[in-house]
Amino acid sequence: METKNLMEKAVRFHGHICPGLAIGVLAAKHILERGYLYAPNEELVVIVENDSCSVDALQVLLGTTFGKGNLIHKDYGKLKYYFYDRRTEKGTRLTLKSSDLGDKKLSKNEKIQVLLNSKPEDIFIIDDIEFNLPGLAPIKESLPCEICGELTMNGRLMTYNSSEMCIPCYKKMREQ
Ligand SMILES: [Zn+2]
Ligand SMILES: [Zn+2]
Repeated sequence: METKNLMEKAVRFHGHICPGLAIGVLAAKHILERGYLYAPNEELVVIVENDSCSVDALQVLLGTTFGKGNLIHKDYGKLKYYFYDRRTEKGTRLTLKSSDLGDKKLSKNEKIQVLLNSKPEDIFIIDDIEFNLPGLAPIKESLPCEICGELTMNGRLMTYNSSEMCIPCYKKMREQ
């Protein structure tokens, strides 16, 4: 698996080339080399603690996408990535190591090259973790909000003054 080819594929999806994307490519490459497979459905699940450019590499190279529900974002602002394979019940966690890359006077392209030539263990702390996952993304029926009438997933409807409503309407009602 050539890092260069993976990076090209990721850049086509992401739209530009950047160090964040290179980090995601390296993470995806390592995960694929560990025997995890690209997920056409929800075989692989990734939990990310950031929404940086790196996550786009995971979406395109691993098939873990927001729309399929096998990409879960926890908004902690941390460069940590959890990978779970439902077929093998394996789990792996990658945590970006702090590095002096930001301090060195490298151009953006030089940074990208340094990253792409790194070994995964140079830039990530790699841990095998227990297979421990939320269930498959349930298909939730949508119902109209009683205030604005727009279809809203059942699990996201709020009850207020004995009406079922969407979250934006709920927030507006609470402000009144
Ligand atoms: Zn980017
Ligand atoms: Zn509404």
